[in-house]
Amino acid sequence: MNKRELLKGLTKEQRKKAMSTTSHEELLELAKEEGIELTNEQLEVISGGGICSAGYQVTCPKCDSLDVDELPDGRYKCNKCHKEFED
Ligand SMILES: [Zn+2]
Repeated sequence: MNKRELLKGLTKEQRKKAMSTTSHEELLELAKEEGIELTNEQLEVISGGGICSAGYQVTCPKCDSLDVDELPDGRYKCNKCHKEFED
């Protein structure tokens, strides 16, 4: 389960906020503020740091670079070959 899957069922506004969090503490705090009910599986991923840890690493499908930025619309852009792609 990655961050995107975790955000399924949230409103667009909530997703935006959640995607901008940089730590699982922040995400948990946000969930509390927004009154988002998290399943045990989701909590496990968050508390395990699964979202922010290196285990969730996006690579460029074209050049396999790890130097990839997430775009505001949820897609990704490679900083090496500048390819834009979806997860
Ligand atoms: Zn690339």
